[in-house]
Parts: sequence; structure tokens; C-alpha cells
Amino acid sequence: MDLEFLELTDRQVRFIISETTPAFVNSMRRSMIADVESMSIDEVNFYNNTSVLFDEMLALRLGLLPLTGGGNYVPASSCSCNGEGCFQCQVSLTLNVKGPVTVYSRDLASSDPEVIPADGDIPIIKLFKDQELMLEAIARKGSAKDHTKFQSAIAASYKHLPKFSVKDCNGCKECVEACPKQIIKDEGGVVRLTDELQCTLCSLCVEACESGALSVTGDPHSFVFYAESDGSMSCKYLLTASVESMSKRANELANFVETFA
Ligand SMILES: [Zn+2]
Repeated sequence: MDLEFLELTDRQVRFIISETTPAFVNSMRRSMIADVESMSIDEVNFYNNTSVLFDEMLALRLGLLPLTGGGNYVPASSCSCNGEGCFQCQVSLTLNVKGPVTVYSRDLASSDPEVIPADGDIPIIKLFKDQELMLEAIARKGSAKDHTKFQSAIAASYKHLPKFSVKDCNGCKECVEACPKQIIKDEGGVVRLTDELQCTLCSLCVEACESGALSVTGDPHSFVFYAESDGSMSCKYLLTASVESMSKRANELANFVETFA
């Protein structure tokens, strides 16, 4: 297996992975979406709400805020407190505001400075004169298998690496016109693909070619993988956590076979 990073920032990652199978990259995609655990607001206690939104609507909105950190916490279902709630499985975020003001995610005060909204400028609600909001939100750890609010990968996808070849071209240049991405260029009578990563394998160039000289196929063993984080964790962490989860599953299977077969 070979890996070549094209882009790696906290929020986005794009790489070419080769000498592997569609099953493996699809497992990685699914694991990234559903297995990686993150913190999210799971319960809200309202002490005062004279805003225009119902408690339930505000609670839903708060639940969708991406929260950072949480590496030291355990999911409430597997905590030694048996779901009672303790410092190992939950974080408290409080909000106490009075209008007129626009309340943003940065206004939530967290009991753990590591567990805070990933973006401070997400609007929560607009309070008018004398409207008040006082609440305590409880954040817990979970995975997207339980609820999509725990999903940190807001994008995770792959495509086959395009392979473009030209043989016996008659120079009609129809393919140059047909390419919607405009990535086929005519260079002295010979057509060439200028940026293979932008190719979507639409085959419009192949259909437009009079002489049948073009061939565009997806490499069955090489893929361009793209993922994006909601900011709750870095893409590097997202990637390693998804692969660790796959490894853990494989080990569980191996142990099962060892014990029962
Ligand atoms: Zn606990």
C-alpha cells in the first residue's frame, strides 16, 4: 500500500492511496463517518427561557454544535458510574444571557477548557429586549452510530484514480471541447490531460472522439480519498482513529476465531 498526501490541514485531507481495494477504502470511509467518537451536547437543563424558541428547538440546535477535545472521556454507556454522570463521562457548558443580544457558540462557558465549540461564531439565537436564557448543557461522548450529531467527518469520499491514454489521435480536438472540466489541452496536435485529479470519469471526451483514440478508465487499485472535519478534531486524528477502529475490529475477529475455531 502506498500513500501520497495532496493536502493535509486540520479541516481537510486529500490523498492518493494505491495498491489497495475498493473494499478497504470504503471500510475506511465508513469507519471515519460512524466509528470515530466525539463530544456533543446530549442533555440540556433550562432554568429560564423567555426567547422566541421552544426549549426543544434550542436543545436540538445546541446538540449540533461541534465540540473540540474529549480524548480523556469515556462514553456514558461504558463509564464506571453506570450512567449516573461523572467527571469521566460528561462536561457541563453553561449559558446565562439577557437581550438584546445575538447569542453565539462562544458564549457557552465550559467546565473543561479542552471541550469547547469548535467554531466560536455559530449563532444560536437572537434575544430581544428583556428576553433571557439560562441553561446548563451536558456534553457526552458518542459515535454517529447513536446519533449523527457525533459525526465529525462531514465529508468522506473516494474515487478511482483516472487513467487517461491516447493512441492514434487524428487531431480532431473534439475531446478538448467536450470536457466539462476543461482539463484536456491540445499541445501541437496531440491531446493531453492536464490535471488528472480533476477528472470525474464522465467519459464525454471518449464519446466525442471520432477516431476512438481516447481511453479514460479508473485505476482499480488506486483511489483519491477526500475527507473533511467539522472542526471537533483534526483530519490527522480522524484518519488515525478510523484506521485504529478497523484494526480493533479485525483483532476482535481474530480473537474470536482463536477462541472458538
Ligand atoms: Zn461517568
